[in-house]
Amino acid sequence: MTSDNLSFVLRGIEDVVYEQRPIPEIKENEVLVTVKKTGICGSDVHYFVEGRIADFIVKNPMVLGHESSGVISKVGSSVENLKVGDRVAMEPGATCGTCESCKSGRYELCPDIIFAATPPYDGTLGRYYRLPAHLAYPLPDNVTLEDGAMMEPLAVGVHSVSNLGGLRTNQTIAVFGCGPVGLLCMAVAKAIGASRIIAVDIIPARLDFAKAYAATETYLPVKPEEGESKIDYSRRNAANMKKVLNIDDRGKTSIDLVIDASGAEVSIQTGFYIVKSGGTFVQVGMGNPNVTLNLGLLMTKELNYKGSFRYGVHLTFLPYLISYLGS
Ligand SMILES: [Zn+2]
Ligand SMILES: [Zn+2]
Repeated sequence: MTSDNLSFVLRGIEDVVYEQRPIPEIKENEVLVTVKKTGICGSDVHYFVEGRIADFIVKNPMVLGHESSGVISKVGSSVENLKVGDRVAMEPGATCGTCESCKSGRYELCPDIIFAATPPYDGTLGRYYRLPAHLAYPLPDNVTLEDGAMMEPLAVGVHSVSNLGGLRTNQTIAVFGCGPVGLLCMAVAKAIGASRIIAVDIIPARLDFAKAYAATETYLPVKPEEGESKIDYSRRNAANMKKVLNIDDRGKTSIDLVIDASGAEVSIQTGFYIVKSGGTFVQVGMGNPNVTLNLGLLMTKELNYKGSFRYGVHLTFLPYLISYLGS
């Protein structure tokens, strides 16, 4: 092993540099992974452009990246299930395992989580990354390292659509935003057997991709009018969407689950109008946190409006997904 650990470091807003970092020393229950593939997440971009996400603020230089796979290059003395050379997907969040959140099965809420590229913790965009052995999941031979790096964002989709959204076979879903997370939410809905998967985006090329990938229908929102307020626009947009796609508030043509993977205020507002009475709305996209919402709809439809943060433990995260992909 050389001493080369070139890393991609965020020093401040729109200020990144390649920098040599010391190769991490591992503890007896940890492994050192030579990182091979890393996806760039919306959160990496938020930190790059704004220097923060909600109350997570980049105060010191931080290595970016958390959607990664690689090859084991060193194992701690007490590690039994992994060996040097194993190809693995890396789970980026190490939780305490003992707090109320961890013990209640919602470890994404652990206050002591050490999550890659969430300040103050360094991420995976270096030559090496150190993590507890139980968070490195061996990949079957027919699963590529690229697919291995996709396991974390796919887990975000599973968490939003299944764990929180509770989507079941033959139910209907609308996904606002056709970026990677929106698309993976559609893929999860397809795997569950949703009868309608409606993709919504303002970019037609993204809708085309969504249709070819997992959506059954697409919707291109109407254009805002001069001087129209956002909530007025959203009401008009929702009415048009309902008419064009034959969506009702109840019954077979209603929408059981809305996922907002855009973070755009008008998408969230429109979603409140089109989700069915008694339906569920999961917020996974992160935009301006201060938005105007129609609480009249929230109450009179008895909507379940839920926040989604990263991924959860309910489907045992990576082992389940990897075995699904490998089969
Ligand atoms: Zn991510
Ligand atoms: Zn915990």
